[in-house]
Amino acid sequence: MDLFKPMNLEEKKSTTPEGDIEKVKCLIIGSGPAGYTAAIYAARANLSPVLIEGLQPGGQLTTTTEIDNFPGYPDGITGVEMMADLKKQAERFGTDCRWGIVTDVDFSSYPHKVVVDGNKTIEAETVILGTGATAKYLGLESESKYAGSGVSACATCDGFFYRGKDVAVVGGGDTAAEEATYLAGLCNKVYLIVRKPYLRASKAMQDRVNRTKNIEVLYEHNTKEITGDGVVQGATLIKRLGEEDEQEVKINVDGFFLAIGHTPNSDFFKQYVTTDANGYVITEPDSTRTNVPGVFACGDLKDSVYRQAITSAGSGCMAAMDAEKFLAERE
Ligand code: NDP
Repeated sequence: MDLFKPMNLEEKKSTTPEGDIEKVKCLIIGSGPAGYTAAIYAARANLSPVLIEGLQPGGQLTTTTEIDNFPGYPDGITGVEMMADLKKQAERFGTDCRWGIVTDVDFSSYPHKVVVDGNKTIEAETVILGTGATAKYLGLESESKYAGSGVSACATCDGFFYRGKDVAVVGGGDTAAEEATYLAGLCNKVYLIVRKPYLRASKAMQDRVNRTKNIEVLYEHNTKEITGDGVVQGATLIKRLGEEDEQEVKINVDGFFLAIGHTPNSDFFKQYVTTDANGYVITEPDSTRTNVPGVFACGDLKDSVYRQAITSAGSGCMAAMDAEKFLAERE
């Protein structure tokens, strides 16, 4: 089925008094590597971009440790530093970076309307969506019960609180492997809870996990319950769930970290922009164009496969170039 069907937009004059609406050529939503790179390119193309940073300025990379695979940093760089540098670079060319959250959009007519913090409307000739993705949770009642009391989806943010203690990390991908090795450097012991009989993480990350003495990988284990008296004190796991030899296993841990993937942040514009079944924005092949003319998508929001800082930055560049071309063609 071809999900990509360009939408026809009607040009519509705003019904709100002129003074109340800010008009911009290029509005960028999101402040990860995709958003900031789009901003650098859009600013250099004289589109005077406004960038709305969102809830987590700097995006997911601000919660990661060392980034060793972004070209140009032979000694690695921390996520926080890299994002601060990207922001500085975007601002150097005139990007207006603003703290705020987009609460609503109206892409049904042109120009597009975006509402920030529930009260400020911006009318944009082009919108670049770079809102990234958010960590997934298992969906257990006990997860929300202990949120902030031992349950976390960010080892680099919260690992510090568990120095010298025992913790668990759920997941078998690169994030889980990275978080487990990071926590192993701080904690006494790390259980890595993996539902399959193998890790999905890259070979290099698997090797790191296997080389780390205080990580114990619990293959074929699922989490039934997180337990404790007010704070996390342990977890009940099921080994070989659904098999004849299924077995309940209890572990004692003070911290319980989720690293089971992410959900794209596309809910607030889904009504207009076509996404796949998992919420990832669908763009035209070899382009960042969405089904809505003048709306472009980049970064993890539209990429369920590569999801790297460098690929996000690359698609941010593409989005700015596509926006520039769109505007040039309208003139
Ligand atoms: P992935 O989707 O790659 O992995 C998610 C993991 O969580 C899988 O092992 C999956 O199990 C497991 N999982 C999912 N749902 C559940 C559940 N309900 N219960 C138990 N386990 C569950 O996500 P990541 O966040 O690890 O990685 C995302 C992308 O980012 C990848 O492309 C990765 O390579 C990249 N990345 C790269 C890094 C780097 O290069 N430094 C660092 C971190 C991420 P199963 O295998 O059974 O599906």
